[in-house]
Amino acid sequence: MRIARLITVFLFLAAPLPALAATKAVKFGKLVDGTGRVLTNAIVIVDGDRVQNVTSGNASIPSGAEVIDLSRYTGIPGLIDGHTHITYYWDGITTPRSEPPRHPAITVFLAQENARKALEAGVTTIRNLNAADGTDLAMRDLIGMGKMIGPRMFVSGTGIRITRSTAPPAPIGIMVDGVDAVIRGVRQVIASGADWVKMYGSTGGFDDVTQFQTFTFEEMKAAVDATHALGKKIAIHSYGPAGARDAVRAGTDSLEHATDMDDETIAEIVKRKTYYVPTIDHNQYYVENADNVYHFPAAKERLLDYIQRNFETAKKAFQAGARIVVGSDAVYNGWGLNMRELDWLVKMGMTPAQALKAATTEPAAMLGMEKSLGSVAPGFFADIVAVEGDPLANITAVSKRDNVRWVMKAGQVVVDKTK
Ligand SMILES: [Zn+2]
Repeated sequence: MRIARLITVFLFLAAPLPALAATKAVKFGKLVDGTGRVLTNAIVIVDGDRVQNVTSGNASIPSGAEVIDLSRYTGIPGLIDGHTHITYYWDGITTPRSEPPRHPAITVFLAQENARKALEAGVTTIRNLNAADGTDLAMRDLIGMGKMIGPRMFVSGTGIRITRSTAPPAPIGIMVDGVDAVIRGVRQVIASGADWVKMYGSTGGFDDVTQFQTFTFEEMKAAVDATHALGKKIAIHSYGPAGARDAVRAGTDSLEHATDMDDETIAEIVKRKTYYVPTIDHNQYYVENADNVYHFPAAKERLLDYIQRNFETAKKAFQAGARIVVGSDAVYNGWGLNMRELDWLVKMGMTPAQALKAATTEPAAMLGMEKSLGSVAPGFFADIVAVEGDPLANITAVSKRDNVRWVMKAGQVVVDKTK
């Protein structure tokens, strides 16, 4: 009797919920599926939040399925931005970073605008590295609950830094000095619910392109070990070569920015398969907004110089065989420009297909989600983007946000500009 009742319950649970039950058949003129296949006249069958099948020919459409005809467009996997700051919201009036302090709940509410802009750029997943007051954790969970519209989020909570009395304005983060404090800081971040740990291994950020190493090798090693001991991953920020060298040797899972790296460090990255997120376009964005948004016109020259060196370092790393991931480092009004980094990757010699991998399968693997994100394939989350043009011929079909016409995330249409 009890077993029978249990079976009934299980049968009921196994039946898809009505809201998700509708099977969708999405037609594309061309589909770049992320596994290396390019299909013409493809039909993606979506059931609930997952891709059920990738096929072609009208006969393969299940009866009763909702047909979405996007045959004018090219389909690609939902894009992944490997380095963002979604809670850095700008009101468009004040200067970013000198806005009046806001209650964390207000920040979460306002940052929905950044979330929407990410989706409009085709970004269905982000890795967010540093946010104050648990605002990133709240957004991740609200989006996961379906109560907020936005990209799927993997978050670091608050980044960990060393005490630095001379850096204005006061940096946001957990201040830790010495191995014991670092271990405690890492555990605190993970206990707060973070998926990743973010460590600031050097100075540098915004108009500041200094490259001074902050944490020592021993502190970085302690952070990496404490993170891995709890089954999580760590991203270490370093604007300069010294912090990068120690971060890589300490075993960081990903390395952020890292300009002017020496050949030895690059060889180590390749050997260890460390993910390298150069974030080149980020400083280009600052140059474009230095006068009218940030009001730091004097920084333009050093930013331009840094961009050039950042680009050259990333190019060297690419040529050496490093695993490069697209990261926009998006902040404030940089949201929506997330995929401009792809243009730099092509400029350094990647084929458009290789560049696309850096925004799909590579970050999916970095996140440990290679079996459910980054490709349009059976069993994967139905994260699919329709773009105008052929990204394999010209990457601007993806990098230019106006070319993103339609976005599906986990089976739900979240952007539709096809009409
Ligand atoms: Zn960043």
